[in-house]
Amino acid sequence: MDTISHCLAAVKARIAQAADLAGRQTATIHLLAVSKTKPSTDIRAAYAAGQCAFGENYLQEALEKMAQLADLPLEWHFIGPIQSNKTRFLAEHFAWVHSVDRLKIAERLSAQRPSHLPPLQICLQVNISQEASKQGCDPSAVSLLAQQVHQLPNLQLRGLMAIPAPSTDVNEQRRAFRAVRELLEALQQQGLPVDTLSMGMSDDLEAAIAEGATWVRVGSYIFGARR
Ligand SMILES: *Cc1c(COP(=O)(O)O)cnc(C)c1O
Repeated sequence: MDTISHCLAAVKARIAQAADLAGRQTATIHLLAVSKTKPSTDIRAAYAAGQCAFGENYLQEALEKMAQLADLPLEWHFIGPIQSNKTRFLAEHFAWVHSVDRLKIAERLSAQRPSHLPPLQICLQVNISQEASKQGCDPSAVSLLAQQVHQLPNLQLRGLMAIPAPSTDVNEQRRAFRAVRELLEALQQQGLPVDTLSMGMSDDLEAAIAEGATWVRVGSYIFGARR
Protein backbone atom coordinates (compact mmCIF):
# COMPACT_ATOMS: atom_id res chain seq x y z
CA MET A 1 0.00 0.00 0.00
CA ASP A 2 2.75 2.35 1.02
CA THR A 3 4.60 1.47 -2.13
CA ILE A 4 1.72 2.50 -4.38
CA SER A 5 1.30 5.93 -2.79
CA HIS A 6 5.07 6.42 -2.94
CA CYS A 7 5.20 5.46 -6.62
CA LEU A 8 2.22 7.67 -7.43
CA ALA A 9 4.02 10.61 -5.85
CA ALA A 10 7.13 9.73 -7.84
CA VAL A 11 5.28 9.59 -11.15
CA LYS A 12 3.60 12.92 -10.41
CA ALA A 13 7.04 14.39 -9.77
CA ARG A 14 8.22 13.05 -13.13
CA ILE A 15 5.19 14.60 -14.83
CA ALA A 16 5.76 17.95 -13.12
CA GLN A 17 9.43 17.99 -14.06
CA ALA A 18 8.72 17.07 -17.69
CA ALA A 19 6.02 19.76 -17.83
CA ASP A 20 8.47 22.34 -16.46
CA LEU A 21 11.08 21.39 -19.03
CA ALA A 22 8.50 21.74 -21.79
CA GLY A 23 7.23 25.07 -20.45
CA ARG A 24 3.79 23.56 -19.84
CA GLN A 25 1.41 23.78 -16.89
CA THR A 26 1.41 20.49 -14.97
CA ALA A 27 -2.38 20.75 -14.61
CA THR A 28 -2.79 20.24 -18.38
CA ILE A 29 -1.40 16.72 -18.05
CA HIS A 30 -3.65 14.03 -16.58
CA LEU A 31 -2.49 10.76 -15.11
CA LEU A 32 -4.27 7.56 -16.04
CA ALA A 33 -3.25 4.76 -13.66
CA VAL A 34 -3.20 1.56 -15.72
CA SER A 35 -4.34 -1.21 -13.40
CA LYS A 36 -4.61 -4.17 -15.77
CA THR A 37 -3.72 -7.50 -14.13
CA LYS A 38 -3.58 -5.78 -10.72
CA PRO A 39 -6.08 -6.54 -7.93
CA SER A 40 -8.78 -4.15 -6.80
CA THR A 41 -6.92 -3.73 -3.49
CA ASP A 42 -4.15 -1.97 -5.44
CA ILE A 43 -6.72 0.37 -7.01
CA ARG A 44 -8.14 1.10 -3.57
CA ALA A 45 -4.66 2.00 -2.35
CA ALA A 46 -4.12 4.34 -5.31
CA TYR A 47 -7.51 5.95 -4.72
CA ALA A 48 -6.60 6.49 -1.05
CA ALA A 49 -3.51 8.30 -2.36
CA GLY A 50 -5.66 10.61 -4.48
CA GLN A 51 -5.85 8.82 -7.86
CA CYS A 52 -9.32 8.68 -9.48
CA ALA A 53 -8.78 7.71 -13.14
CA PHE A 54 -7.93 4.10 -13.95
CA GLY A 55 -7.23 2.36 -17.25
CA GLU A 56 -8.09 -1.24 -18.02
CA ASN A 57 -7.38 -3.39 -21.09
CA TYR A 58 -9.49 -6.50 -20.54
CA LEU A 59 -13.23 -6.14 -20.27
CA GLN A 60 -14.07 -9.11 -18.05
CA GLU A 61 -11.32 -8.23 -15.59
CA ALA A 62 -12.44 -4.59 -15.54
CA LEU A 63 -16.08 -5.48 -14.84
CA GLU A 64 -15.05 -7.64 -11.89
CA LYS A 65 -12.99 -4.85 -10.38
CA MET A 66 -15.74 -2.28 -10.96
CA ALA A 67 -18.12 -4.47 -8.97
CA GLN A 68 -15.59 -4.77 -6.15
CA LEU A 69 -14.99 -1.01 -6.15
CA ALA A 70 -18.55 0.22 -6.66
CA ASP A 71 -18.34 2.21 -3.41
CA LEU A 72 -15.65 4.52 -4.87
CA PRO A 73 -16.26 7.38 -7.36
CA LEU A 74 -13.70 6.16 -9.90
CA GLU A 75 -13.39 7.22 -13.54
CA TRP A 76 -12.84 4.18 -15.77
CA HIS A 77 -10.99 4.35 -19.09
CA PHE A 78 -10.83 1.46 -21.55
CA ILE A 79 -7.49 1.27 -23.37
CA GLY A 80 -7.39 -2.27 -24.81
CA PRO A 81 -8.33 -3.89 -28.12
CA ILE A 82 -12.09 -3.82 -28.78
CA GLN A 83 -14.14 -6.73 -30.04
CA SER A 84 -17.38 -5.58 -31.61
CA ASN A 85 -19.49 -8.02 -29.54
CA LYS A 86 -18.22 -6.32 -26.35
CA THR A 87 -19.08 -2.73 -27.13
CA ARG A 88 -22.28 -2.71 -25.04
CA PHE A 89 -20.31 -3.25 -21.84
CA LEU A 90 -17.89 -0.49 -22.77
CA ALA A 91 -20.76 1.89 -23.54
CA GLU A 92 -22.46 1.09 -20.23
CA HIS A 93 -19.54 1.07 -17.82
CA PHE A 94 -16.77 3.39 -18.98
CA ALA A 95 -16.30 7.16 -19.09
CA TRP A 96 -13.62 7.06 -21.79
CA VAL A 97 -12.51 4.68 -24.54
CA HIS A 98 -9.01 5.43 -25.89
CA SER A 99 -8.73 2.59 -28.37
CA VAL A 100 -11.37 3.19 -31.06
CA ASP A 101 -9.83 2.40 -34.42
CA ARG A 102 -12.73 1.80 -36.79
CA LEU A 103 -16.11 3.31 -37.57
CA LYS A 104 -18.12 0.18 -36.85
CA ILE A 105 -16.94 0.19 -33.22
CA ALA A 106 -17.73 3.88 -32.81
CA GLU A 107 -21.22 3.44 -34.27
CA ARG A 108 -21.97 0.62 -31.88
CA LEU A 109 -20.65 2.57 -28.87
CA SER A 110 -22.82 5.54 -29.79
CA ALA A 111 -25.94 3.41 -30.33
CA GLN A 112 -25.38 1.53 -27.05
CA ARG A 113 -24.47 4.48 -24.80
CA PRO A 114 -27.25 4.72 -22.16
CA SER A 115 -29.13 8.00 -22.41
CA HIS A 116 -28.76 8.81 -18.69
CA LEU A 117 -24.97 8.94 -19.04
CA PRO A 118 -22.92 11.80 -20.49
CA PRO A 119 -21.41 11.23 -23.94
CA LEU A 120 -18.70 8.59 -24.01
CA GLN A 121 -15.31 10.32 -24.35
CA ILE A 122 -13.42 8.92 -27.31
CA CYS A 123 -9.86 8.85 -28.56
CA LEU A 124 -8.96 7.31 -31.88
CA GLN A 125 -6.02 4.96 -31.63
CA VAL A 126 -3.44 5.57 -34.35
CA ASN A 127 -0.90 2.96 -35.40
CA ILE A 128 1.76 5.66 -35.53
CA SER A 129 4.75 3.38 -36.09
CA GLN A 130 2.71 1.44 -38.68
CA GLU A 131 3.49 -1.91 -37.10
CA ALA A 132 1.68 -4.83 -38.72
CA SER A 133 0.81 -6.36 -35.35
CA LYS A 134 -0.51 -3.21 -33.69
CA GLN A 135 -4.02 -1.99 -33.08
CA GLY A 136 -4.92 1.39 -34.40
CA CYS A 137 -5.97 2.98 -37.63
CA ASP A 138 -3.46 3.99 -40.26
CA PRO A 139 -2.36 7.64 -39.94
CA SER A 140 -3.71 8.29 -43.45
CA ALA A 141 -7.19 7.18 -42.33
CA VAL A 142 -7.42 9.35 -39.20
CA SER A 143 -8.90 12.43 -40.81
CA LEU A 144 -11.93 10.69 -42.35
CA LEU A 145 -12.54 8.51 -39.30
CA ALA A 146 -12.45 11.57 -37.04
CA GLN A 147 -15.00 13.40 -39.20
CA GLN A 148 -17.30 10.37 -39.05
CA VAL A 149 -16.95 9.78 -35.31
CA HIS A 150 -17.52 13.48 -34.63
CA GLN A 151 -21.01 13.10 -36.19
CA LEU A 152 -22.12 10.34 -33.81
CA PRO A 153 -24.59 11.62 -31.20
CA ASN A 154 -23.62 9.86 -27.98
CA LEU A 155 -19.86 10.14 -28.34
CA GLN A 156 -17.56 13.08 -27.77
CA LEU A 157 -14.46 12.83 -29.91
CA ARG A 158 -11.60 14.14 -27.76
CA GLY A 159 -8.44 13.30 -29.69
CA LEU A 160 -5.86 10.64 -30.43
CA MET A 161 -4.13 7.79 -28.62
CA ALA A 162 -0.95 6.02 -29.71
CA ILE A 163 1.55 3.44 -28.51
CA PRO A 164 4.71 3.96 -30.59
CA ALA A 165 7.12 1.10 -31.21
CA PRO A 166 9.33 0.89 -28.12
CA SER A 167 12.62 2.73 -28.33
CA THR A 168 15.24 3.71 -25.75
CA ASP A 169 16.32 6.67 -27.92
CA VAL A 170 14.57 9.79 -26.66
CA ASN A 171 14.80 11.50 -30.03
CA GLU A 172 13.12 8.56 -31.68
CA GLN A 173 10.42 8.53 -28.97
CA ARG A 174 9.83 12.22 -29.55
CA ARG A 175 9.64 11.79 -33.32
CA ALA A 176 6.77 9.32 -32.97
CA PHE A 177 4.88 11.44 -30.42
CA ARG A 178 5.41 14.54 -32.56
CA ALA A 179 3.79 12.74 -35.48
CA VAL A 180 0.72 12.07 -33.32
CA ARG A 181 0.58 15.71 -32.25
CA GLU A 182 0.77 16.82 -35.89
CA LEU A 183 -2.16 14.56 -36.72
CA LEU A 184 -4.16 16.16 -33.89
CA GLU A 185 -3.24 19.63 -35.14
CA ALA A 186 -4.43 18.67 -38.62
CA LEU A 187 -7.80 17.66 -37.14
CA GLN A 188 -8.00 20.99 -35.30
CA GLN A 189 -7.28 22.79 -38.57
CA GLN A 190 -10.22 20.91 -40.11
CA GLY A 191 -12.37 22.49 -37.41
CA LEU A 192 -12.79 19.51 -35.12
CA PRO A 193 -12.92 20.47 -31.40
CA VAL A 194 -10.30 17.95 -30.27
CA ASP A 195 -7.97 18.61 -27.33
CA THR A 196 -6.56 15.28 -26.18
CA LEU A 197 -3.29 13.43 -26.80
CA SER A 198 -3.26 10.12 -24.91
CA MET A 199 0.39 9.10 -25.17
CA GLY A 200 3.32 8.18 -22.96
CA MET A 201 3.71 5.24 -20.57
CA SER A 202 6.09 4.29 -17.73
CA ASP A 203 9.22 4.39 -19.88
CA ASP A 204 8.56 7.28 -22.24
CA LEU A 205 6.24 9.74 -20.53
CA GLU A 206 8.85 12.54 -20.56
CA ALA A 207 9.13 12.41 -24.36
CA ALA A 208 5.34 12.32 -24.68
CA ILE A 209 4.90 15.35 -22.44
CA ALA A 210 7.56 17.23 -24.40
CA GLU A 211 5.41 16.67 -27.50
CA GLY A 212 2.11 17.66 -25.95
CA ALA A 213 0.59 14.64 -24.17
CA THR A 214 -2.52 15.53 -22.14
CA TRP A 215 -3.06 12.01 -20.71
CA VAL A 216 -0.15 9.76 -19.81
CA ARG A 217 -1.07 6.12 -19.19
CA VAL A 218 1.18 4.67 -16.51
CA GLY A 219 1.01 1.10 -15.20
CA SER A 220 4.13 -0.69 -14.06
CA TYR A 221 5.80 2.42 -12.64
CA ILE A 222 2.89 2.78 -10.19
CA PHE A 223 1.79 -0.80 -9.53
CA GLY A 224 4.98 -2.76 -10.19
CA ALA A 225 5.90 -5.12 -13.03
CA ARG A 226 3.12 -7.28 -14.43
CA ARG A 227 3.36 -11.09 -14.59
C1 LIG B 1 -0.29 -1.59 -20.31
C2 LIG B 1 -0.57 -0.32 -21.01
C3 LIG B 1 -0.06 0.90 -20.52
C4 LIG B 1 0.84 1.03 -19.33
O1 LIG B 1 2.11 0.53 -19.64
P1 LIG B 1 3.32 0.62 -18.57
O2 LIG B 1 4.53 0.44 -19.41
O3 LIG B 1 3.10 -0.46 -17.58
O4 LIG B 1 3.26 1.97 -17.96
C5 LIG B 1 -0.42 2.06 -21.19
N1 LIG B 1 -1.22 2.03 -22.28
C6 LIG B 1 -1.71 0.88 -22.77
C7 LIG B 1 -2.59 0.92 -23.96
C8 LIG B 1 -1.40 -0.32 -22.16
O5 LIG B 1 -1.88 -1.46 -22.69
